[in-house]
Amino acid sequence: MAYTIALIGRPNVGKSTLFNRLVGRRIALVDDQPGVTRDLREGDGRIGDLNFRVIDTAGLEIAADQSLPGRMRKLTERAVEMADCCLFMTDARAGVTPADREVADILRRAGADVLLICNKAEGRVADATHEAWSLGIGEPIPVSAEHGEGIQEIYAALQPRIDEFEAALEAIEAPDEADEDRPLQIAVVGRPNAGKSTLVNAVLGEDRLLVGPEAGITRDAIGLETDWGGRAFRIFDTAGLRKRARIDEKLEKLSASDAVRAVKFAEVVVLLMDAASAFETQDLRIADLAEREGRAVVFAINKWDLEEARGARLAELKEMQERLLPQLSGAPLVTVSALTGRGLDRLRGAVLDMHAVWNKRVTTAKLNQWLGARVEAHPPPAPSGRRIRLRYMTQIKARPPSFIVSCSKPEDLPASYSRFLVNGLRQDFGLKGVPIRLSMRKGE
Ligand code: GDP
Ligand code: GDP
Repeated sequence: MAYTIALIGRPNVGKSTLFNRLVGRRIALVDDQPGVTRDLREGDGRIGDLNFRVIDTAGLEIAADQSLPGRMRKLTERAVEMADCCLFMTDARAGVTPADREVADILRRAGADVLLICNKAEGRVADATHEAWSLGIGEPIPVSAEHGEGIQEIYAALQPRIDEFEAALEAIEAPDEADEDRPLQIAVVGRPNAGKSTLVNAVLGEDRLLVGPEAGITRDAIGLETDWGGRAFRIFDTAGLRKRARIDEKLEKLSASDAVRAVKFAEVVVLLMDAASAFETQDLRIADLAEREGRAVVFAINKWDLEEARGARLAELKEMQERLLPQLSGAPLVTVSALTGRGLDRLRGAVLDMHAVWNKRVTTAKLNQWLGARVEAHPPPAPSGRRIRLRYMTQIKARPPSFIVSCSKPEDLPASYSRFLVNGLRQDFGLKGVPIRLSMRKGE
């Protein structure tokens, strides 16, 4: 779970070149031929002691029939959804173009965290960056991706962001003590009009308290702290919060980056969906993000008061959940009406249950007993005649439950065998519905 930056900008501004410099030359090749199909380019980037994930948006798959402006818009929106920080690249030689202005507009409206990178600025710094101020993004950073100039300035800009991010994540994933009084952090996310503000207001009731931003919490991560049924909660809300704060209404349309942030800072993610239109692409994306970030998820189906054929619809929704999000198999699906307050107690119960599962620890003795029995019942394969041995298993952390197994030949163990173990862990230790991490360590 690393801090993620996305490289955005018109074709030919130098995204691949910078990507190669940040990630190393192993993955992407600079590609001057137009129309060559590119893979999603994503890799582990590094500048000095800073580690992060880099996505080159040129590699994102967007329908080929899009016009260039349409494509740029889509790519930019996707990048904002996926990244903590967007590196918006322009070509200092070409100057600021209308397409650059359009991308800048989208980024500004989305409230994204952006660094403006003026590339190809080798040797002509002053005039390269002066015009770029007019994009309204802030101070341009002149670089030459090709010659490796300006990388220190990118480092200086990223360093405080990444430090803050890591400190905040640390607080979520490995709190000092399992303090019962510490508020349980939840995010309420979902598409516009799902009913997020209504739900959050129903939960807050009269007892509302605006908290944050505070030390160790990233700039935009603001939570609402409240007592919900006798337990302290901190709610990371997205659109609703902005509405209350009466910030520019337009922001609401593109609150995806807030959703991403809220997911990262939550222990349990409540994905709120309108009963009439649940499990659409954007919902799946958020759920998948939550799973990848290792968060527990509760599916909340809202506006249940409007539903007529409840039994049939519920069966349909459960079927969709299992089919479209097998990675979250077993996560609770709760029907609610934020407007009338029905189902909110069950929602609270589901959140507490998932939080407990997410925090669960299994003793090493139990795990090894279990592993022995599993391996005996269903031994790992024996490539080239020598059976792969799995010797020892332990849970290295909770939040989410993460395990390591020592394995004689981790590189030869098929993924299907790891899945078999993960499914077994879910069944036998009551770990249904939360992400589980299982890694193999080389050991005899
Ligand atoms: P992308 O389409 O944004 O991924 O751009 P590329 O990384 O493929 O670069 C497009 C062209 O610009 C290539 O011919 C690069 O060699 C060139 N280029 C990239 N960075 C620089 C730079 O810092 N200075 C100069 N002069 N050319 C560069
Ligand atoms: P947000 O954009 O996700 O914050 O959604 P809002 O909370 O603003 O709700 C969008 C609309 O749906 C509003 O008109 C709400 O009154 C309505 N709404 C929210 N929850 C419910 C519900 O449980 N039942 C019904 N019938 N309408 C609801």
